[in-house]
Order: sequence, then C-alpha cells, then structure tokens
Amino acid sequence: MVLTTRRRTLLGMGGACSLGLLGTSAEALAAQENGRKLGYAIVGLGTYADVILPRFAECRHSRVTALVSGSPEKARRYAAQYGVPDSGLYSYDTFDTIRDNPDVDIVYVILPNGMHHEYTLRAAAAGKHVMCEKPMANTAAQAEEMIAACRAAGRKLMIRYRSHFEANNREAMRLARSGELGTLRIVTAEHGFNIGDPTQWRLNRALAGGGSLMDIGIYSLQAARYLTGEEPISVSAVESTDRSDVRFREVEDTINFQLVFPSGVVADCVSTYGSHHNRYRVVGTQGWLDAEPATAYEGNRLRLRREWRTADHPAPELALNQFSGQLDHLSQCVMTDSDPIVPGEEGLRDMRIIEAIYRSAREGRTVAL
Ligand code: NAD
Repeated sequence: MVLTTRRRTLLGMGGACSLGLLGTSAEALAAQENGRKLGYAIVGLGTYADVILPRFAECRHSRVTALVSGSPEKARRYAAQYGVPDSGLYSYDTFDTIRDNPDVDIVYVILPNGMHHEYTLRAAAAGKHVMCEKPMANTAAQAEEMIAACRAAGRKLMIRYRSHFEANNREAMRLARSGELGTLRIVTAEHGFNIGDPTQWRLNRALAGGGSLMDIGIYSLQAARYLTGEEPISVSAVESTDRSDVRFREVEDTINFQLVFPSGVVADCVSTYGSHHNRYRVVGTQGWLDAEPATAYEGNRLRLRREWRTADHPAPELALNQFSGQLDHLSQCVMTDSDPIVPGEEGLRDMRIIEAIYRSAREGRTVAL
C-alpha cells in the first residue's frame, strides 16, 4: 500500500515533458519548430521580473515579446532594454487585447499572489498558455478555477517552482528517492527571512493570501514533498505572531508545521518572516544529505554523509540554469503538446496542504489530509 502510493506520486511528479528535452533532443525540437522561439508576455515588472528578464538571453526556445505594466514609462524603458516592440506593450486595462498578438504564446504572471487567479483566467480567455508564479493563488478554490479555465481553453498551465529545474535540488531528489540514504526517516526544511517594509503587498492579506507560509514557507512544503516523492497524510502546525508588530497586522509571521507521509517519514518545516533560513536535510537509515543554501537563486550547496564519511556533493550540471531551464521547459511542452513537470495540479496540491496547515494552527489539532 505504501509502495503503491509512493510510486503513483513519483509518476505524478514526473509528467510527459521530460527535462531530458533540455539536453540533446532540444536540437531536434528546434529543427522541428524551424528554430522558432515561443513568445512570452511578462505581466508585472517588479523585483522578480528583473531576475527573469535577463534569463531569456540564455533560452533556446523562449523569447520575450510583450510586457504588461501599470507604468507606460517603465514599460517603454524595459522594452528598449529587452528588444520588445511597441506593439507588445500593454497596460492592465488593455491586457485582454493580447489575444490579437500572434507573437505571444505564453503569459507569465509575476504579480502579487492575490492577482494570479484573475490574470491566469484572463490569459486563458485570450487563448494563451500560462506560467504562473508561486503560490499559485490565494486559495485552493481559486487554483481549481485556474486549472479548469486553462483546460477549457486547451492551454497549458505551469507553476513557477524553480527548484525542480535546479541541479542540486534535482540531485537531492534523486538521492533521497533512490534509497542511497537507506530508508528515509526525517526531513527538516527551513525557509524564512526577516521581512522589512510594513507597507509592502506581502503583508497585505488580500494581495498576499497569507503571510510567510504563502511566500517562503511554501519552499519548505515543496521540498518535503519533492524530496520524499510522497504526499502527506496529516499535518500539525503552530503559529507564532506578535500582533503588536506593525508588519503583522494582517498576516502571520512564523508558522511551523509537521507533515506525516505514508511511508512513515516525518517532515519538520519552518516558515518565518522573522529570521533568515534556507536549508533542508534528509536523514535516512544509511546516511543523510544537507543543503544550505538549498533553494537560493545561486550558490546552492549540497553535502552528503554515507558510510561514515561526510563530503561536499556537487550535483551534475544541467544544460541550463534554473530560470532559463524553466522558461524553455514550458515552451517545449507547448511545442510537443506534453504536460509540464510542475503543472497547475502541483500548485493545487500545495494550496490544499497550506489550507490544512492554517486550519491546524487555528484549531490547535492535527488535520488529516
Ligand atoms: P514586486 O512587488 O517586486 O512586483 C510586483 C509587480 O506587480 C510590480 O511591478 C507592481 O507594480 C505590480 N502590481 C500590479 N498591481 C499591483 C498591486 N495592486 N499591488 C502591488 N503590486 C502590483 O513583487 P515580486 O517580488 O516581483 O513578486 C511577484 C510574484 O513573484 C509573487 O507571486 C512572488 O511570490 C513571486 N516570486 C517568486 C520568486 C521565485 O523564486 N519563484 C521570487 C520572487 C517572487
């Protein structure tokens, strides 16, 4: 029973459009598409868009062809920098006319969490495929609507879980699931940072959907799931928030949670807006792996202990960095009509567990999943 559940989950996290497409078969695909790069529209020109936009330069199958911004001046400045024509510039009001732009294949939503649902629905209605930032939405119900809208439109939906495209994380997944650490027993995962400006949208409930769990703790949740390759069967959570702190009038600061998996593995997870954490550790009966930083933009480090020896364990390099690799992955899934390895359903699973974590903290009891 346990093995069946585990195997089904592993297959579920696989998907038809394999990462192998980023390797040698990429050339074959490019030839098939006459070298065409699919066009991305970037919605929201904030901090993370600044991380993403330069990464198109390394992509083989993706280019940026449109920008959506509330500021025409900013849009023009970015357009000049990234070679986007005037015909590819949109405001939030004119966004829906993107349906008439044949150079846009994929809409990439990099807006505050509370806007992901609306812009995914509008993108699907415009006949575009969607890349949506994490967390997928404010609620599981919204996530379900996003999946249904893309399905009804016959369009792909992928959630931007970049760790699935990062070399160390992929190696950690392989090691943890392969049995090389023995039988898995314990996972610990910590993600957090000391949040600043009390006026930012991340501290506004309507725009953020919640506090640290929605923004950074979701990395601990993801890690526990992708390292074990299992789905949790129950969750217990404890919240600690100083409501007199002006930053935490609407959302939580710290919410730590424990997940129990079918095989018996237990994951202890930290999620906080109070201190800096970026780490996970997987302990099995024959050894452990430790990643710190674990899910950073760069400089991730993996250590491994086996046969009584501890050593750095550099992962085999991937053809592309995590950012470009993820952009190209969706382009290739569109070209080959296959499913992304992190589809909307993957985001929905997290949203359901996140809601259970909040319920457990609120009601002071373990919640079955
Ligand atoms: P940001 O505040 O820097 O940018 C948000 C953008 O949305 C800005 O351009 C802003 O002008 C625009 N916007 C439009 N309407 C808005 C409104 N009503 N209120 C506030 N902003 C509005 O945020 P960010 O850090 O770029 O985060 C955007 C999304 O990307 C979030 O969902 C976040 O979780 C995600 N993100 C993901 C990663 C990752 O590694 N995958 C990293 C950072 C952020």
